Amino acid sequence: MGNRYWSPVVHRLVPYVPGEQPKLAELVKLNTNENPYGPSPRVIAAIQAELSDALRLYPDPNAERLKQAIAGYHGLAPAQVFVGNGSDEVLAHVFQAFFQQPAPLLFPDITYSFYPVYCGLYGIEYTTLPLADDFTLRVADYLRPNGGIVFANPNAPTGRLLALADIAWLLERNRDSVVVVDEAYVDFGGDSAIALVARYPNLLVTQTLSKSRSLAGLRVGLAIGDPGLIEALERIKNSFNSYPLDRLAIAGAVAAYADREHFEATRQAVIASRERLAADLAGLGFEVLPSAANFVFARHARADAAALAAALRARHVIVRHFRLPRIEQFLRITIGTPAQNAALLGALVAALAEL
Ligand code: PMP
Repeated sequence: MGNRYWSPVVHRLVPYVPGEQPKLAELVKLNTNENPYGPSPRVIAAIQAELSDALRLYPDPNAERLKQAIAGYHGLAPAQVFVGNGSDEVLAHVFQAFFQQPAPLLFPDITYSFYPVYCGLYGIEYTTLPLADDFTLRVADYLRPNGGIVFANPNAPTGRLLALADIAWLLERNRDSVVVVDEAYVDFGGDSAIALVARYPNLLVTQTLSKSRSLAGLRVGLAIGDPGLIEALERIKNSFNSYPLDRLAIAGAVAAYADREHFEATRQAVIASRERLAADLAGLGFEVLPSAANFVFARHARADAAALAAALRARHVIVRHFRLPRIEQFLRITIGTPAQNAALLGALVAALAEL
């Protein structure tokens, strides 16, 4: 009974499996790339001030205040901004709006694992293209017209960055395709492709407040692009749910953009911690890929990654391990506070001694 879906469509789906959200309070949780620092105190104050209205009243279906805040922050017009319930939802609308094309959608074979899930949901054909040996994206492979292109930059779970000049090169040669750059992690070391939006009406950049603004639970994501692309997304959204963002999310997100100091200080702390952790991991025998994100992707010269992840878990430190070809010997480790990183390193030393 339990496995009967009453529908061949649902039966075919291979849903995304989110990273674990364990209940144990004393865990060192380095598995889902959350920000170890809290959000801006101004976000908390704004949400508290909004609370009563937020429960009684419907939210603004266009989240105008938030679009203005984001547009102002990036020096754009609100008509170039789309917002949604986390960038996962924004990407779902993007896939539905733009990727049902005559030619298959292109994306790298190692990237955010939600992309094939959306393809399954909407019946989108796709072709994956291998990353280079050093796990960078080979832009020259992405030259097939009439489809769509999506990639994460910095990429997940590798953390590797594609330079803005390469993105411009790719856009120049794919003017007939919608090109989506998923910048969930861009604030930790990349140059945003938002700088190219005015030049390329086929470019859409998605971002999230879950990582660099420490608001994963508030669920706010956005897309930035030509008003033509944004209008298409609004049509999809309004055919699905007119109120994707509640009033607390709108109030909190607006306040997050207003507090540049908190954003800058926590972002820099994560970047500095990442560089320290990468060096410490190298000292323990890991090969660590250069990362522009709030995590590192690393493999040990001797120890098996699955065994290492299990040994860390036994010591109450959780990291992410993917049982996927080519990356099965890697661990993806979210950057924690200095204390969390020290706990991770201590657990690793003990685990390595035992494996
Ligand atoms: N894109 C990438 C590459 C991610 O790693 C994530 C986080 N899992 C997301 C998008 C979605 O983040 P959110 O829905 O929290 O905005």
